[in-house]
Amino acid sequence: MLKSFTYKITSAEADFLKKGIRVAVEFGKSKIYTALVYNIHNSPPLGYEAKDIHQILDETPVVNEIQLKHWEWIANYYMCSLGEVFRAALPSAFLLESETAIQLVQNFTNESELTNDEFLIFEALQYQSQLSIQQIAEIIDKKTVFPVIKDLIAKNVINVKEQIYEQYKPKLVKYIQLSTQWTENEQLSELLEMLKNAKKQRAVILTLFQLKSKNKPIKVVQLQEDSNCSLAVIKSLVDKGILEYYFIQKDRINFTGKSSEIKELTEHQKSAYNRIRKSFKKKQTVLLKGITSSGKTEIYVKLIKELLHDNKQVLYLLPEIALTTQLIERLQHYFGEYLSVFHSKYSMNERVEVWNNVLENKQKAQLILGARSSLFLPFSNLGLIIVDEEHEPSFKQYDPAPRYHARDAAIVLAKMHGSNVLLGSATPSIETYYNAQQGKYEFVELNRRYGDVLLPEMELVDIKEKHRKKKMTGHFSDRLIEMISDALLQKEQVILFQNRRGFAPIVECKTCGVSPQCPHCDVSLTFHSFKNELRCHYCGHRQAMPHNCGACGSSSLNTKGFGTEQIEMELTQLFPDYKIGRMDYDSTRGKYSYQKIIGQFQAHEIDILVGTQMLSKGLDFANVSLVGIMNADNMLNFPDFRAHERSYQLMVQVAGRAGRAKKRGKVAIQTFNPYHQILQQVSTNSYEEMYKEQMEERRQYHYPPFYRLIKITLRHKNYNRVEEGAVWLGKSLSNIFKEQVLGPSTPAISRVRSFYIRTIIIKIPQKQALGLTKKHILRIKNSFQAVKEFRSIRFNMDVDNY
Ligand code: ADP
Ligand code: ZN
Ligand code: ZN
Repeated sequence: MLKSFTYKITSAEADFLKKGIRVAVEFGKSKIYTALVYNIHNSPPLGYEAKDIHQILDETPVVNEIQLKHWEWIANYYMCSLGEVFRAALPSAFLLESETAIQLVQNFTNESELTNDEFLIFEALQYQSQLSIQQIAEIIDKKTVFPVIKDLIAKNVINVKEQIYEQYKPKLVKYIQLSTQWTENEQLSELLEMLKNAKKQRAVILTLFQLKSKNKPIKVVQLQEDSNCSLAVIKSLVDKGILEYYFIQKDRINFTGKSSEIKELTEHQKSAYNRIRKSFKKKQTVLLKGITSSGKTEIYVKLIKELLHDNKQVLYLLPEIALTTQLIERLQHYFGEYLSVFHSKYSMNERVEVWNNVLENKQKAQLILGARSSLFLPFSNLGLIIVDEEHEPSFKQYDPAPRYHARDAAIVLAKMHGSNVLLGSATPSIETYYNAQQGKYEFVELNRRYGDVLLPEMELVDIKEKHRKKKMTGHFSDRLIEMISDALLQKEQVILFQNRRGFAPIVECKTCGVSPQCPHCDVSLTFHSFKNELRCHYCGHRQAMPHNCGACGSSSLNTKGFGTEQIEMELTQLFPDYKIGRMDYDSTRGKYSYQKIIGQFQAHEIDILVGTQMLSKGLDFANVSLVGIMNADNMLNFPDFRAHERSYQLMVQVAGRAGRAKKRGKVAIQTFNPYHQILQQVSTNSYEEMYKEQMEERRQYHYPPFYRLIKITLRHKNYNRVEEGAVWLGKSLSNIFKEQVLGPSTPAISRVRSFYIRTIIIKIPQKQALGLTKKHILRIKNSFQAVKEFRSIRFNMDVDNY
């Protein structure tokens, strides 16, 4: 499904052009797009007349041949067009097109500098805040607009409108501590003796020791206030080498500090590291299964160090980069001047800069840390790809196309570069573990936590029983309350996990039982108490919480279920003397709010942190001794063949946040069903057993890894239209694939954003040729779209849709 287009070029252009250079071309009726030279050939296109190209945009390729080959693979495997891959891959700044909006740079006055065409555009922008390239072409009545636009940008008259995200620069918070020489042999009396003639400095030291006993990092301002001294006094202690400043949040883009030495690996880590190196000689891909806090990251660091030494590029893929500031910080310490972060929240210019640095193989882009889209960068000399937390669902892109899985696409990319891949996880996905068992990947295991801290002690709390015995306060069992109190008394921190945001997932009328529904989707609205409103978690619709039932007018509305907001509220009542924080999609919307919460928790300004699955992503806090899972049942009951696997991974990962530093941590799991096999497996850390059981189910019910899945989704605003289309398509597919076709079915959420949805899943046995299967599907898709009534139905294909 490459769908490339052929344009006419002169022989001079042919000499100049190379694969991977951008050109501006006309597409459709006088629309201009940026295109990429994919092939230079002598065969005229079939069925249409080749047009001339408008303009050449680059002097040298911005995309290299390995990338093109990789994108081709993605398009073929994931059944999308090469253009879709290209648009996902290139930073939007590289993609001028007819719809691109142009706006005026404020303060430009030097009109006499402008040519006639330029002036026309300038003038039009006095009346309209922005113009599309299409409109500009009409204004100057020319097809070739890019040169004019380019000049106007160069003269700083206009710029290209973009969604500008602010540069990622959290504020620095300054903390203070005793310098190493004094922490090593902490002798208060000796210090005081030394300072006996400096009264104010003595007072500062005494206050510092008082604050230290609270076991929290000490802010400079706090020390100053509590000791009632000026900053100068503190500074003189720093000058004497008794105290030192440090920072918890740092600038993540420009690294200025000097890099620190990497950590000495423990014997176990060393052995794992050596096995990985040996395995790389045998197989391209290695799975490192290391329990939480075993030091997987330190092993990656050692490997990276070596590759950088050999001048190789390294790609470090992370599930959700916004959630991993701690890791960025850690790597910045080791690899500062070699490290670039590629982040969808960075501004367009920053992304272009990283792209160009990789393209030119610059030193500071030798190690790239990024989420799935960093796979598309122009690597030329890749030595290793690390896929950290490879089991994470966010490596898969669902919408829009290309609907690729970054782990799988990374393995293909590495093959093209002749480089290795390291997949790391404490809870590998079933398909990866299966591949390791089959010998497709090498396998290395690490079963000891750093410092030999034991994995947390797990306790299943039967809340059915607790409800019966009236031992529940809100959603907290007496046992969980006791455990939280214990931890707080020890000045330790607590993480509570609730996999639902908002206050209550459902509002229900006590009189007639009706719940308010989203007007655009087929779902009940979720109650958010802080704003006293109802929200749709599928389309973002919001409305004020009604006073009366919309159906019967009764005023007795009830909430059912519970989310993070409610837990937070109950906690403030249960533990009024402690600081409570909440981390979920709603509390982390602002630019730096996520970093702020993490920073506060790290600085022990928050005692109890409540959150959704955001909490499971590789966070490393030394002082958390208890993790509570508020309700394990709703994840287990989710209607998906992976629900059990995912629940296992999520619970083990969240539990892994407890007791990472010195002391063994505790985990409490509240459930109505303590004998559920997954909960038993989580509490005994029995990955193998979970794997075997899940595999048996997959074998029996024809799911991956035994079968491949391709999911087709049809959407239309007209109910009958999509229904007819789905029936037609289901029949055509069944003719060929027989009982391998599931559906058409109506998903649990059958309408989203006013579109009615139908899905069909095709299950493909391992031995059936995938290429041929896809060909059949594409042929059927073409006939489907040849039916006039079906043409307006949105048709999505998702290969490996899980
Ligand atoms: P994982 O990635 O397996 O969860 P981490 O690499 O985050 O584990 O390690 C857990 C903690 O132990 C981190 O704070 C890390 O700095 C520390 N640690 C791990 N290995 C070492 C080592 N060899 N020397 C010193 N500290 C280590
Ligand atoms: Zn009612
Ligand atoms: Zn909605």
